[in-house]
Parts: sequence; C-alpha cells; structure tokens
Amino acid sequence: MPARSIEQIRNLCKRRGFIFPGSAAYGGLGSFWDYGPLGVEMLNHIKRAWWRSTVYERDDMEGLDSAIITSRKVWQHSGHEATFSDPLVDCKKCRTRHRADHLTSNVCPKCGAADLTEPRRFNLMFQSHVGPVEASPGTEEELASRVYLRPETAQGIFMNFKHVQNSLRRKVPFGVAQIGKAFRNEITPGNFIFRTREFEQMEIEFFIKPPQFVKDGDKTDEQWHEEWISQRYNWWLSLGIDPSRLRKRAQDKAELAHYAKATTDLEYLFPDFGWGEVEGIANRTDFDLSAHSRDVPEADLARLKLEKNSDSTETFDYFDPDAKARYIPWVIEPSAGVTRAMLAFLCEAYHEELVKEPTPAEVDPLKAEIDAVVKNAEKKKKEAEKEPDQTKRKHDPAAIAAFTAALAEMAGRLPQSLLEIDNLLEDHAGAQNLEPAKKLKPKIARLAEDCVRVVLRLHPALAPVKVAIFPLKKNEPAIVDIGQRITRQLAPFMRVQYDDSAGIGRLYRRQDEIGTPFCITVDFQTLEDNTVTLRERDSMQQTRVNIADLKHLLMQRLHLA
Ligand code: ATP
Repeated sequence: MPARSIEQIRNLCKRRGFIFPGSAAYGGLGSFWDYGPLGVEMLNHIKRAWWRSTVYERDDMEGLDSAIITSRKVWQHSGHEATFSDPLVDCKKCRTRHRADHLTSNVCPKCGAADLTEPRRFNLMFQSHVGPVEASPGTEEELASRVYLRPETAQGIFMNFKHVQNSLRRKVPFGVAQIGKAFRNEITPGNFIFRTREFEQMEIEFFIKPPQFVKDGDKTDEQWHEEWISQRYNWWLSLGIDPSRLRKRAQDKAELAHYAKATTDLEYLFPDFGWGEVEGIANRTDFDLSAHSRDVPEADLARLKLEKNSDSTETFDYFDPDAKARYIPWVIEPSAGVTRAMLAFLCEAYHEELVKEPTPAEVDPLKAEIDAVVKNAEKKKKEAEKEPDQTKRKHDPAAIAAFTAALAEMAGRLPQSLLEIDNLLEDHAGAQNLEPAKKLKPKIARLAEDCVRVVLRLHPALAPVKVAIFPLKKNEPAIVDIGQRITRQLAPFMRVQYDDSAGIGRLYRRQDEIGTPFCITVDFQTLEDNTVTLRERDSMQQTRVNIADLKHLLMQRLHLA
C-alpha cells in the first residue's frame, strides 16, 4: 500500500534528510524547499532516468541547457507577459486568497463565507532587473531593464531551434530536451512540494512536419502526439508507478492553453488530494516558433492570432530537403516536473508495516507516560489561559488542545501509531516546550525503530543510496578493513554508505526507510572465504556473494551497467 497521507512523506523527508523547509531559521518562506543530501541524490536520479530514456535511447533527440533569464521580449512574444496569469479572488471575511478556477462554488473554501471579490488577473512571473535600476515600475527605463525568471524551460528551446538544428545537422522530425529550474509566483502553493514557487522541469520540444507537408509514411501531428503520450506514460510505469494510480486525461477545450491544439495530462493519484498532474503533453502547433519569427505569412498570423513580430531578427523556419520547401515546424511538447515527480515516486514507494509486536512490558509504561504528558499539557494550557496578555503566554492554548487531542487518539491505536506519535512529538506546535513530551520522544522513537518497518520500495535507479555496508563487529579490525575496502571499491560507481553506528537489525531498518536496495554485511565467515551477506530490500532475502563478484552484480541489479 502506498502512502496514506502527504504528512507521512513530509515527515520522512525531514527526518531522513530528503527535504527541508527553506529559510527555516527565519520562519520559512512561502513554499520554497531545500533538498537535503538524500533529496539531491533522488532528484539527480530522476533527471538521469529521464535524460537516458529521452535523449540517449533515441536517435532523434539532442540536449540543451539555456539561460534562466532571457530578454523580456521572449515573454512578450510568447504571450506570457499578457496572459500567463491566474484569476485571483480574496475572501473579504477571512482575507485568504484563492484561485478562482479552483473554486467549486462562490463560497470561501477556508471559512465558508459567500463574500468573495470579483476575480482579478495575477501574472505569475517573477520580475527582476538587469543592471542597476532605480526607476519606478512601469516607466520606460524600468521596462527597458526588466527581465523575468523563466516560468517554463520551453522558450529557451524555441530560441535555440535553429542553433541546434544547424550545428548538429538535424532533419525534422527531431527534438530537444532540457532540464532546469522554473519559477512561478503561484497564488496558492502547497501540498508540500506538489505546487511550489521554484521548481524544476524536464521538457521536450519535438519538431515535426506541419500537416500540409505530411506524406505517406510520415506520422501526422496527431500520431506524434499519441506516440509521445504513450512513450511518456510508459516511462512512469517503468520506474515503479502502479497503473492503477496513473491516468491519461485529455484536457477539454475550455482548459486548453492559448497555444495548444490538444493536451493530455498524466495524472497521479496522490494521497489527501487525489489526482494531480505530473506531466502535460501538448500539441503546440507552430505557435511558438511563429510567434518568435520575423517573417510569417499574414494568413498564418491570422490563423494563430499573432501580431507581426518586428522585434525579432530571426525566422525560425526549416528547409526540408525532401519537400524542397521552407516551413515553420510544428511542435509536440512533453513537459514534466522533477520535484512533482519526486513526490509521486515517494508516495508510491512508501510502505509501513508492524514487523514486531511490542510486549505489554514495552507498551504499558509508554501509555502511562503519554497520560502524564496529556495531564501536564492540560495544566500548561490552563496556566497560559490565565495570562490575559497573549504576547506574554508561554504556550498557545489552541495548539496544546490540538496536540493533546491528537496524542490521546493515537495512544488508543498503539502500537500501530508508534511512528505517528513520534512525528507528532517532533513537529507539533503544541508539543514545543513541554518537558514530559521531550522526555517521551526518544523512548517512542526507539520502540518505533524496533517494531515498525518503514520501507521505501523505490525503483533501484531512483534510490538515493544504492548500497550500505556494515561490519558485523566494529571493533574487529580485520572485518572493518574489509568493509572499508569494499566501500572504497564501490564508491566511484554508486552512492555507498558505510555504517557501524548500531546493531545490524537497526541498520537494515534505517536503510529500508530511505529505500536503499542492497545492504552488505561483512562478518566472520568473510575472513575465511571472502564472501559477504548481500541482503535485498524488498524480499529481505540474504545470499552469500564473493567480494570479487560484488561490483559486477550490483551494477547489473542497480541498472548501472
Ligand atoms: P497546474 O495546472 O498544476 O498549475 P500547469 O498545467 O500550469 O500545472 P505546466 O505549465 O503544464 O503545468 O507545467 C508542466 C509541469 O511542470 C507540470 O506537469 C508539473 O509537473 C510541473 N509544474 C508546474 N507548475 C508547478 C509548480 N508550481 N510546482 C511544481 N511543479 C510544477
């Protein structure tokens, strides 16, 4: 069973070094996240898997890395400056902001008041300036130096269409792939890393013949679109997403972006909020390349509802040697989010199971301690309520009430709820500065580690750490020596972790929790016959493997060879 809630994933990510809130020491900054040591590994693996399947394994693709900041003119002619906006409404009662197109009725989703402002358009692009500018917004000087952080990587590819085609002597059909940061000043970011203001995209612009040049044996734009939809759908499945949680959804006419003839979204069934887009595959026609071109026939400008572009010095057309004619290619665009993909892969891989039933002797004292924590918290709440000046209160009564209610409910579900209690004590605002709660935390954590197995069943290609190496005895020099030698031998090829900080059982548990596919244990038998125990994460099966065969075997099973 995959994750039941986004909260489970958020907790794991913080606890084990995948994702931390950005600017945390200053109270955080709305929906910006930092990717920790394991997070950056996983992001890199997602990107590598995508690059391998879309660039290396095809013969019709090239790569690109274009600048994040481009001339403002790019975004004027792409249509983003005028239209890349969301309709925004404010609730006059509770003063929260919402996207009008996400509301299902004329009622505030936060407080239920039917008192919303009229929708206003809000442009999602972040602005900056090139060079030292002190002019007021909207003045000629300000506009001349204004730039935008790119809200999609696509435009960088369009700007380089001719560079890539000429320098690599490519013939249409061919595509260009790019991975990079994108920025959107989202009105309602949230659901952890699902919707953030800074994120990463993996985009392809695949250039094809316009319909009037398609001959027998060529694929039409609709066929290319279908082919990319199924190619991309299969990529998600090949990395472990269950087909019951991935669907293709064709956008209806009202949803379509101004440039698109058709778009199909790939949606993943997330816990808490349900189906959410992880990738969009659009048929962008010849809109973008025409929009940036100087010489476009009047009839095409009218068809595409474009103004003549006299800022551009270029015409993004292509001479087709077979047709002996020039045309502006059409484009199919598969566009996926790296960070959103990470959330989907984590949700899919998360599994929690009780592997050992704790004894009453272990659980009963904890229950008693939980009762004591609840009583102490209620006392602190009453004390806080007596202080009329809220700024002088040591505790927030509402937070304490929420904390004790959650704790009491979870205590009733022990031992299944061990990990939830651990997370609650760690993170809940109402648990802060309560001494008995602080004392209880390590005890709960220890029992949770012994009894609950959290395992990330990540595809081996995506796992942040590939192999962990444990010495059975850390004070046995011969065993330690071999363990460190294996570590050094594997380190150039994969992320390995040498760990001797606990007993083997606990070390296995810690690696399962971060999705490490293999663990190697060096023991006394190793000293006799040069074999180690290789333990596989999902089956927990253990086999003896000769040290000399380790590298080759792991490279194969990790899809690295
Ligand atoms: P949405 O409807 O969710 O706002 P969109 O249709 O605007 O998304 P696209 O412009 O098609 O998204 O972007 C392509 C991909 O980039 C999306 O499928 C998603 O994976 C990712 N993406 C877009 N916006 C964000 C964001 N704010 N945070 C994280 N990823 C995003």
